[in-house]
Formats: sequence, C-alpha cells, structure tokens
Amino acid sequence: MRSISILGATGSIGGSTLDVIARHPDRYRVEALTANRDVDAMAALCARFRPALAVMADAGAARALAARLEPGSPTRVAAGAEGLAEAAAGGGADTVVAAIVGAAGLAPTLAAVRAGRRVLLANKEALVVAGALFMAEVAAHGAELLPVDSEHNGVFQCLYASGGAVAGAAGVERILLTASGGPFRERAPETLGAVTPEEACAHPTWSMGRKISVDSATMMNKGLEVIEACWLFAMEPDRVGVVIHPQSLVHALVRYRDGSVLAQLGQPDMRTPIAQALAWPERIDSGVAPLDLMAVGRLDFEAPDLRRFPCLGLAEAALRAGGSAPAALNGANEVAVAAFLEGRLGFTGIAAVIETTLEAMPAGAADSLDDLLAAEGEARRLAGAAVARQRRD
Ligand code: NAD
Ligand code: MG
Repeated sequence: MRSISILGATGSIGGSTLDVIARHPDRYRVEALTANRDVDAMAALCARFRPALAVMADAGAARALAARLEPGSPTRVAAGAEGLAEAAAGGGADTVVAAIVGAAGLAPTLAAVRAGRRVLLANKEALVVAGALFMAEVAAHGAELLPVDSEHNGVFQCLYASGGAVAGAAGVERILLTASGGPFRERAPETLGAVTPEEACAHPTWSMGRKISVDSATMMNKGLEVIEACWLFAMEPDRVGVVIHPQSLVHALVRYRDGSVLAQLGQPDMRTPIAQALAWPERIDSGVAPLDLMAVGRLDFEAPDLRRFPCLGLAEAALRAGGSAPAALNGANEVAVAAFLEGRLGFTGIAAVIETTLEAMPAGAADSLDDLLAAEGEARRLAGAAVARQRRD
C-alpha cells in the first residue's frame, strides 16, 4: 500500500492522478492534498478521499475549508508555505505528486526531494528555475524522481527498455520530444496578435490547465520541456530536439548509437504517464482507452517554425546561456502569460515581453537557490514593467 500526497490536487494533473488512484483502493491511500484557494473543489476532494491533511496555500481559504469539513472528518487543515512543506515532507506519505503550476511549486517539491520521497514530477518549472541544484538534491537525499510530463515519461520508458542507465551511458545519441504545435500551428502569423485567451486555451489534443495551455500555444511549453529533459536525463542541449507531431500519439523518441530509434506511444491522456509513474516498475490500469492505430491511420512529423514560435528559440537560448537565464525566462513567461490571460497583453506580446526582459537582465550569480529566486523575481519585475509599456504603446 502506497500513501500519496498530491501538491496541486485541484488542478488538471491532480484530478487525473486522483482518477487513477480511485481505480486502485487496494494499492493507494491519499495522505495529503493541497490547493491554492479553490475551497469548493478541495472540500469535495476531502469528502471523497478523506486525507489526513488538507493544505490551502491561501490562509483565508484554509479557514473557509476548515469551516466546511463535515463533523467527524479525519482531515486536519493547514495553510501557507509551512502547510505545503508539511504535505510534501511530513511523516505520512511515501510518494509525492508535484503538480502545482509554476515556480510556486519549487519549494514544496524540493522539500519532498530533501525528505527522500518518491517524487512524481509534473511541475516542470521547478527544474527550469533550479535544475542543477534540484538534481544535486535528488542525488544527495536518495529521492526517486519519476517524470510525469508525457514526453519525459516517454523518454524514461524508452531508456528503461534499453537497460535503464542514464541517457549517455545507454548509448543515446539524441532525444526527440514531440509537440502538437498547439491551436495556432497553421494559423496565419499576422492574425496571431488578435487571438483571445479562449482560443489559446482550446488545445487540439490535450485538456490541461490554462497556463500550460497558453505555453503550448506559444510553444514555450516545449522550450521548458527541452530544459527539463536536459536535467532529467543529463543531456547536453544540442542532443535534445523537438519535432511537431499533430496527432500527439508519439510522445518521445530516443535514437541510439547503433541506429535504433525507440518511441513511446499512447493516447493524449495524462492518466497513462501518471499510472506508469505511480506503479513503477509495475503496470496498472489507468482508465485510458486502448490506442487504435487502424483508426488513427497516419502519424505526421514536421519541423517547428521558429518565426511562428519565437518562444521556443528564447527558451533554447536561455538553456545555452545557463546560470540564472532559465530562471529569468520562467519568471518573465509566468508574468506575460498571466497578463495575456487577464486581457492585459496580446498573444504576440508574450514573446516580446520575455525577449525584452532577458535582454535587460543584469548579470548575476546563480550559485544558490537564493540567487536563482532573486533572478526570477527581478525578471518578474522587469516583465511587469514591459507589460505596462506594451499597453501604453
Ligand atoms: P492547473 O492550473 O490545472 O492546477 C494547478 C494546481 O496548483 C491547482 O491545484 C492550484 O490550486 C495549485 N496552485 C496554483 N498556484 C499555486 C500557488 N501559488 N501555491 C500553491 N498551489 C498553487 O495546472 P495543471 O495543468 O494541472 O499543471 C500543473 C503542472 O503540471 C504544471 O507545472 C504543468 O506544466 C505540468 N503539466 C501539466 C500537464 C497537463 O496535462 N495538465 C501535462 C504535463 C505537465
Ligand atoms: Mg509535456
């Protein structure tokens, strides 16, 4: 019996994880659930899964949740950064699902790593902001890091099919991550300035939270994933590539020295990688319908167009620059995407704000977590100012 703590339980990944867990009451018990401020959703999850601990990042939401729990509920309510750290590293859980969106997930995910847990990582921004430090902590504390992001989960499965060594040692020449191309893959570039948040969030193949949906539409998501892959699999930047694959059925490919290419396929449904990581090294039912290749008929591949998707190039440049550049990229992107979703910035303004921010970033140290968080914070400040300037122009 594994006991599971889910950071970001009310989100898209949180919901898919609970769907898989509910299919296997003999294997999994829910120890702790966390959310930002959605009290209604958390109250419903507490009634259904009866965790020992429920944490709301927002203190007012935590008070409201405590008042909503049924008499006799086994759930204790906690709040804020301390509550999140307890859900991540407190005594009860052996497995932590890191599914908070954005850099807000870094501190609790690191707490789970430092407690030596099995960590199922969806929160890619944690690795983008602090990859070197994060991976050093994984090694130092003997944590077991399993990727949930579908492409990285696919790479992980290909590597284990080939003996389970880290990428270089297994004779890997190149890792290819697939990208659907998002909703604007074929849209005339000159019309992109006018797209709405609803159009950007209407992803053709995946159903996801709003931030990652916008990241998919700009392809910043794939840029963040290239950075994530370099850290997870100890690969140099020029050995991780991106290929557009509109059907989203092949999630990743690994090319070996001998010419073999292994690919992982599956429906575009996050319950597959989540179930793979939850049960590893076993296999369990995920509730996902079988993939019918006869019904699919064809798989298409094409090169990404960096003029249409400048965010992909910005992310790759930040990866090559190293140091605090990826942390700054992430901070600027979070501010720009939030501004777009709130109607304060046009879609093409997202890349423009990130580019201006990275150009204006002062050189700074990147030796400690404090250095990286300072760079992230400075990028947020500069990006906020750039959003305000774009509005005036
Ligand atoms: P979401 O917006 O649906 O859910 C986010 C969760 O985080 C919610 O439970 C929310 O309450 C919580 N949260 C948000 N801000 C918080 C804060 N400041 N402090 C504490 N908790 C906070 O997001 P999602 O789509 O489930 O994505 C979660 C993570 O997984 C992201 O890093 C995303 O890139 C990654 N991911 C998602 C998918 C997907 O299919 N949705 C696929 C691959 C990777
Ligand atoms: Mg992905």
